[in-house]
Amino acid sequence: MKFTVAIDGPAAAGKGTIAKAVAAHFGFAHLDTGLLYRAVGAKVLNGADPLQAAQTLEAIDLDAKHLRTPEVAQAASRVAVDRDVRAALIAFQIQFAGRDGGAVLDGRDIGTVICPNADVKLFVTASAATRAQRRLDELNANGMGLEFEQVLADVLARDKRDSERETAPLKPAEDAIQLDTSDLSAEDAIAQAIAHIKAKQS
Ligand code: C5P
Repeated sequence: MKFTVAIDGPAAAGKGTIAKAVAAHFGFAHLDTGLLYRAVGAKVLNGADPLQAAQTLEAIDLDAKHLRTPEVAQAASRVAVDRDVRAALIAFQIQFAGRDGGAVLDGRDIGTVICPNADVKLFVTASAATRAQRRLDELNANGMGLEFEQVLADVLARDKRDSERETAPLKPAEDAIQLDTSDLSAEDAIAQAIAHIKAKQS
């Protein structure tokens, strides 16, 4: 059985939380595609060439706590502008999306570029302040000691770069269902996403 769920949206809108929970609920595999760009960004911060880093990415590169820092997030969004870097990462994502047993992918261009024929497309949003606060709580829970203004600026800078780039910009697919999580608990947002998927399954 193939069933693909594409979840896109700006930074810290809740995509990851929803994608993980949806995958667990339906028994689908989950790919956080942001991690691919973060892993390339981290290598570039260490002096690597962006394209070579993307072409030689290995599973082990995705498994690192340091990929969650704001510096790596910014580096990820800078390498993500490069069309050759994006092209180097496409085949893996498309293959993942088509795997047997169902797949959930979250990112920025899943419903528009990677899986234009996904069975369900969700575009998850939330106000910038809500997103920055959530990201702040998450980062500070990991002992990073950041300020709200700093995190808000980081989130806004990434949204701007991600939305304005030429290749695969962040935008909702025409047939995406929009889910604004500003005033929703994580549980409610997950329940709504599950309901949308169930509706498409029947
Ligand atoms: O989702 P996450 O915040 O981990 O993504 C980090 C960066 O990777 C984003 O700001 C974006 O520039 C890039 N990205 C992308 N396309 C994706 C997923 C992430 O351009 N499908």
